[in-house]
Amino acid sequence: MSFFDLGLSPEIVRAVTERGYDQPTPIQKQAIPVVLAGGDIMAGAQTGTGKTASFTLPLLHRLSAHKSVPSNSQGFPPIRALILTPTRELAAQVQESVRDYGKYLNLNSMVMFGGVSIGPQKQKLRTRIDILVSTPGRLLDHVQQGTVNLSRVEVLVLDEADRMLDMGFINDIRRVLSLLPKQRQNLLFFATFSDKVKTLAAGLLNNPTMIEVARRNVTAATISQKVYHVDRERKRQLLSHLIRENKWYQVLVFSRTKHGADRLVKQLGEDRIQALAIHGNKSQGARTHALAKFKDGTLQVLVATDIAARGLDISELPHVINYDLPNVPEDYVHRIGRTGRAGAEGQAISLVCVDEHHLLADIEQLIEQRLPKEVVSGFAVNPEIKAEPIPNGRKAPSGGGNQRTRRSAPKSASQKSPRQPSSRTAAGDKKSGPSSPTPRRSGKRR
Ligand code: AMP
Repeated sequence: MSFFDLGLSPEIVRAVTERGYDQPTPIQKQAIPVVLAGGDIMAGAQTGTGKTASFTLPLLHRLSAHKSVPSNSQGFPPIRALILTPTRELAAQVQESVRDYGKYLNLNSMVMFGGVSIGPQKQKLRTRIDILVSTPGRLLDHVQQGTVNLSRVEVLVLDEADRMLDMGFINDIRRVLSLLPKQRQNLLFFATFSDKVKTLAAGLLNNPTMIEVARRNVTAATISQKVYHVDRERKRQLLSHLIRENKWYQVLVFSRTKHGADRLVKQLGEDRIQALAIHGNKSQGARTHALAKFKDGTLQVLVATDIAARGLDISELPHVINYDLPNVPEDYVHRIGRTGRAGAEGQAISLVCVDEHHLLADIEQLIEQRLPKEVVSGFAVNPEIKAEPIPNGRKAPSGGGNQRTRRSAPKSASQKSPRQPSSRTAAGDKKSGPSSPTPRRSGKRR
């Protein structure tokens, strides 16, 4: 089946083909016809599945097939489609896709998020914007200032809705919903099904088609996963050794904390390995700069925290390194999903010290797979070193660090069994307990 067979216009098929895609991915095959027909969808799919195009392509098709209504009484041209995303990076990426896939159409799009000056956004909102991609917080800033009008939105997309809910955006989303016309199309995307997602969907969607694609990250044969056991104090040395010995480029390294990410960048610099960090305390400019350099291959190592890296589309990323294991096992799946994307080979390596054995056990239980374990020559583990509590980490179960905790086995979205959302504080990167349901309006991550 081709994109043309799905009913997309020749202009859109041309843009997609120029991007090098000839076959729709499973989620695209399922979602595109439903969206083209004007139906609501509820889709369980992670980044890496082609989900962005699954809503962008039919959205572009529908908007270009129907004429825009004229400006309203205040002179605002109507915004016809609103795409909400949890993070700035994801918003920027989605708008890039909208622009790219819509390059042969006469539609205008705009992206807006916090952390950058609001003035230019106000200016741009006075021009014709058909498709607005935004994070919830900045959108509401504009609503409060009366600089955006959402009363003519025809299509609403909530991308990574579960993540937005985990980040405490529920009240912001409700507020936005109250500003939209009742008659509209709703497209809801989530990676992990939860009670919160279920409740949101129930109040939002009209007779939705449920679409599910496999949790590809867990089973993707294109990702080779490996654990290197190493002593706590020698991780940095091992990381530099691996990068140098293997001449790795475009290495995405995950750090559990922002502070740890900064420290690692400094230490890699001392080892003459060029690295930059991306996390919630970095300015938007610094984040964009680091990501651009990493994407174009001029930056060897990008050190990221989980939230900062979520949803990043860095195509065919060859290496992902877990410098620390995440507290939340689901984050392991999200992390390694940055590699081996869209059929490309990828390598995911975890550096695990004695403190992290319980985290590793949880990950293996979640992915239902034992990871191959090795020790790198010259980095033998010292058995005398005892496990210590990880600062801000989830504690090991009593009775030793190597015990399995009693987490329930993972269930895919297709089993329609709500799972607990991963624990993450609203502030983003440091995880010290279950996520707070407190709504946030003043966070840094808009
Ligand atoms: P996403 O899940 O939207 O983050 O997309 C993951 C990656 O797959 C992106 O690099 C897309 O550009 C790419 N992609 C999207 N659709 C296709 C397709 N039909 N064939 C191959 N790659 C695709």
